This record gives sequence, structure tokens and C-alpha cells, in this order.
Amino acid sequence: MTELTFAELGLGQQLLDALDAENYTAPTPIQRRAIPFLLKGSDLLGIAQTGTGKTAAFVLPILQKLSEKPTKANPRRPQSLILAPTRELAIQIGEGVKTYGRNLHLRHAVIFGGVGQSPQIQKMVRGVHILVATPGRLLDLIGQGHIELDNISFFVLDEADRMLDMGFIHDVRKISALLPRKRQSMLLSATMPRDIAKLAESLLKNPERIEVSPKVVTVDRIDQRVYFCESGEKRDLLTEIFADESFYRVIVFTRTKHRANRVAEFLNKSKISTEAIHGNKSQGARQRALESFRKGDTRVLVATDIAARGIDIDDVTHVINFELPNEPEGYVHRIGRTARAGAGGVALSFCSPDERPFLRDIERLIKREIANENERPLLDHIPKKPKPVQRQPHKPEQSGRRIAKKQGDNQIQEKRSKPGRSRRRRSRGKAA
Ligand code: AMP
Repeated sequence: MTELTFAELGLGQQLLDALDAENYTAPTPIQRRAIPFLLKGSDLLGIAQTGTGKTAAFVLPILQKLSEKPTKANPRRPQSLILAPTRELAIQIGEGVKTYGRNLHLRHAVIFGGVGQSPQIQKMVRGVHILVATPGRLLDLIGQGHIELDNISFFVLDEADRMLDMGFIHDVRKISALLPRKRQSMLLSATMPRDIAKLAESLLKNPERIEVSPKVVTVDRIDQRVYFCESGEKRDLLTEIFADESFYRVIVFTRTKHRANRVAEFLNKSKISTEAIHGNKSQGARQRALESFRKGDTRVLVATDIAARGIDIDDVTHVINFELPNEPEGYVHRIGRTARAGAGGVALSFCSPDERPFLRDIERLIKREIANENERPLLDHIPKKPKPVQRQPHKPEQSGRRIAKKQGDNQIQEKRSKPGRSRRRRSRGKAA
């Protein structure tokens, strides 16, 4: 089967130019399957997780359709509404709208709670074509008369199952009751529990059902290794690893918030710029940490599983599991951060004797054994003495024969040039 290009999906030149600028060489499976239907005007029931390219799958057709019939953005009355469960996700979607729509003259706003509402109101008063919102703040602003939904032609409910988990379903129902009946609707969800299926039935008309499962692909594309060590050795292992400059945008996972703080403190003391994100941090602090990590100012993000949901940052060089998750699915989720949308990545796990059962569960779930890094003389390819690191974001220096460094390079190169190429063969060659 030949792979369709973005142009063959029916997207206009301005969008194609924007995708080109992002180095998106080919559509991901959900994009390939959803975009043609959405351009034709069908409703969509998409079963897809983050990392599949689902955001572009719904944002591109909306941008195209809005730009085909250009109208002025009406004060307070947006034409498209994208609902997201969290502020982080709303911001990410807003960034997608901005990036993909860079050559179009469409206005958008992102609104969410926990911050002052004045700038958001001002944007709405000026008028936007696309509104990305979390449910609570949206209802607030609707209640105050700053937003009306009677002009909505495109409605997206993203991460519907998470909306349910977070207790927003009631709000979603209130919001959908305010939408015009004549509209195009899209519902995306990683899973399809019965409540979501019911919600989809009430929101969508004859939807195209498109399901993509990135799990197997993601896991297969990631170079995974495990270090067997004692709990007390993990910190030293971490500093030794960070002496390697190719580890320049790394997410370290811990099981608890407390441990996340401790690891972040320790790394900062070791002059490795680190931020921790977890549920005890305020939304503002989490957002600042993510931004600084995204920009490359912070080298390491220490995260717990819950805080990491929805982190969408390109070019994460490595994921390190400082502690293995006790839920095997969490492992797949964690390592997926280093292999977004078809790119490969590297994931290292530290496994102390008490964590062996977790490792067994993980290997059972992913149906393969994770390569034992200790068998290849571990400390041979990582300098024993950590040296202060001069980090160079986006441009790791060539140095030595460190295997993990080369893997990091491959990941980035591959993402930029040939996202589809298998890197497993290459890394196997190196490990030999
Ligand atoms: P999403 O599943 O929408 O959260 O997207 C995950 C990541 O994939 C984002 O960082 C996007 O920038 C990236 N992405 C989306 N579509 C493509 C594509 N066709 N090629 C390369 N990267 C993509």
C-alpha cells in the first residue's frame, strides 16, 4: 500500500507549507484516515491516545474549512469549539492551532481556569474563529455573558475519557446543550467505556469510527534497557548517566511526589538543571516547568505518572525510569514520551531487587524482554566521574563512543528526516 501524502489527503497549500515547516513528512495513521472524512463534513469518533498525531487530525480540517469560507471573527461568538480536560492539553492544542494555521488569517483563544479571566475576556470580545477551552472556565464565561455558542460549526471533545475521569461529564453535557444542532462534531478518546460511548451517541451523527492503537508500534520503536542495581545506587547511576551530554532533554519518572522532589533536589545540587512536576505543584508552577523544559532551559523534568499524562514535548532524548511503575501500563505510557508520532526513542529503567516483580509484569505486557544493560559493561560507556555539563540544546556534540548518545542522535535525526525507518536494526548492530 502506498503511503498517502498530506497533499493527497486534500489539504490546501498554506497548511501544507506549515506542515513542511514542522518537518512532518507524512501523515500519521489517524491523520490519514480521519482527515478525508472530516474534510467531507462527517462526524468523527476517534479512539486514539496522545502521541498518535490526533490533534493535527482534527485541527487541520477545521483550519481548512474555516479558511475556505473566510468570515470575520464575531465578538464573543466563536465558530469552532475544542474542549480539553486540562489546561496543559488546552495549551498544547492552542499551540497546534497556531502552528498549523500560521499561514492563515484565523484567530484563536485558549481559555482555562486558575488564572485571571480578563485577558481571556478581552480576546473573546475582539472575536476568535477557534476557541480552545476547559469546561469549567468556559461555563463561567458563558454564565457571565462573555461567550455564546450559537455560532459553533465545529465542535471537538478531546480526551473524552479523561473528562469522565475528572468529573467533567456533567459540564460537557451542559455545554453541548448550548451548541447549534447543525454542526460537525468530533469526539476523541483513548478508551471507550460505556459512558463515553453513550455520550458519543448523543453528540455525534453517523460518525466515522476510527481506531488507532499506537501501543505496539510505540514500544517497538523505543530502544529499552534495564539497569539492575540496589536502590541506594540509583542516584550515582543517574549522575553518571547525566555526564553524557546527549542526555539533554530527559524525563525522569518516579512513583511518588516525594521521591520526585528528592531526585530533583539531588540533580540540581549536582548542577544538572532540573524541575519536578507532580500533583502538589500549582498549575502555574507545572506550566512554567514544562515551558522551561520545552525551550531547553531545563535539562531534566522529574515527573510522577499522573503529572506526566498529556506531556507533549518533541525531541525528548531519553526517558529514565528512576523507579519502575507498579502498573505495567504506566511503563508504556512513560516511555511513549520519547517516541512521539512515529519517531524512535531511548528508555532506561533502574530496577532494584524489590522492583523485579514490576519488571516481570511489564515484560509480560509488552511481550518482550527488556535488554539488560548490565550485561554490556554498563559503566564502560558512561564516564565514571561526572563532569560539569555544558548543555547545548538541539545540538548534541559528537564525543566518544557512548552508545546511548548515538541513540539520542538517531532519534532526532530520524524524526526530522525519515520518521518511518526502523531504528531497531541499527541499535542492535551497535549493541553487538
Ligand atoms: P498528538 O497525538 O496530537 O498529541 O501529537 C503528538 C506529537 O506528534 C506532537 O508533538 C506533534 O507535533 C507530532 N506530530 C503530529 N503529526 C505528526 C506528523 N504527521 N509527523 C510528525 N510529527 C507529528
